[in-house]
Amino acid sequence: MSVLPPRPPAPDGPGLADGFGRVARDLRVSVTDRCNLRCTYCMPADGMPWIPTEQILTDEEIVRLISVFVSLGVTQVRFTGGEPLIRPGLTDIVKEVTGRSPRPRVALTTNGIGLARLAEPLRAAGVERVNVSLDTVDADQFARLTRRDRLGEVLAGLAAARAAGFTPVKVNAVAMRGINDASVADLLSWCLAEGYELRFIEQMPLDAGHCWSAAALVSREEVLERLGRRFTLTPVPAAERGSAPAELFLVDGGPATVGVIASVTAPFCASCDRTRLTADGQIRSCLFAETESDLRGRLRSGASDDELADIIRGEMWRKGPGHHIGRPDFHQPLRPMSAIGG
Ligand code: SAM
Ligand code: SF4
Repeated sequence: MSVLPPRPPAPDGPGLADGFGRVARDLRVSVTDRCNLRCTYCMPADGMPWIPTEQILTDEEIVRLISVFVSLGVTQVRFTGGEPLIRPGLTDIVKEVTGRSPRPRVALTTNGIGLARLAEPLRAAGVERVNVSLDTVDADQFARLTRRDRLGEVLAGLAAARAAGFTPVKVNAVAMRGINDASVADLLSWCLAEGYELRFIEQMPLDAGHCWSAAALVSREEVLERLGRRFTLTPVPAAERGSAPAELFLVDGGPATVGVIASVTAPFCASCDRTRLTADGQIRSCLFAETESDLRGRLRSGASDDELADIIRGEMWRKGPGHHIGRPDFHQPLRPMSAIGG
């Protein structure tokens, strides 16, 4: 990990400001780096050297750190991983977080396995929004892409989320060359029929196996071209989309929409309002950050909330202007997506 030149300390004042005028309000919390799938764009077939259990934050530590982030102006918390549903205490963590004042909005990103059982309890605990990652509804493609034969469980999880009253249920998809790129319109047809809101995300170089290549990238442009062969897509003006990074299109005149998040070819770094807490208690200002700061060690050695807040503010102040994917000076972060929290 390279060492960046020192910057002035974070200025006093409310909010998690960085040196480029952005303010973080959206905290992504990874509750585990482990997973029950092995998506090719995320993890190697044999998995990873997992973070040792004693380094993983306890439920109480997660709740305490989230409350420090909230005291610094975070208004939305998204639980992710690894696969967040494999953490036994997730529902209790959500209950604790939503039981506090001020109460952040709580969302979840999951691969859907286990959601058939957990959708209702999580909604009752205060989760407001769910994104389920599903790249294809073709069982063979699913098995090739995730290296597991568990499509049925994901579909059952999605249906349970809808039945539990999550509206809308969002589906996140990554198109992979030679696996599911030719079937993106089938996935959209299926999502429209089921009432799920689909978002395509460009594949980023964040996998532990380093399998990303610019040449193989299925870009925003290509996804839109393929969808356009079956559907009429009408851009939703940016002013009507709010601050979300997805570019939205009405499908066949609406009201249904499809989104594309062009993280590589049209990054939204300039308006990014995210910050991240890893499962082992490090704060990262960006998926592609070259530094992170240790909150777990300081918390376990007795740091006060104010001291933890200073570490968080300092790390956010050092946030870089944006990623350099595709440029010669790009360095893939040492931590893969599954250990940062997607
Ligand atoms: N396991 C959960 C899931 O799959 O939703 C949560 C963690 S996963 C890392 C979060 C999101 O990151 C998923 O939507 C996944 O598709 C996406 N993702 C993983 N690796 C990616 C990559 N290299 N590029 C773009 N998105 C990626
Ligand atoms: Fe697991 Fe999610 Fe990574 Fe797939 S994208 S391997 S489900 S953490």
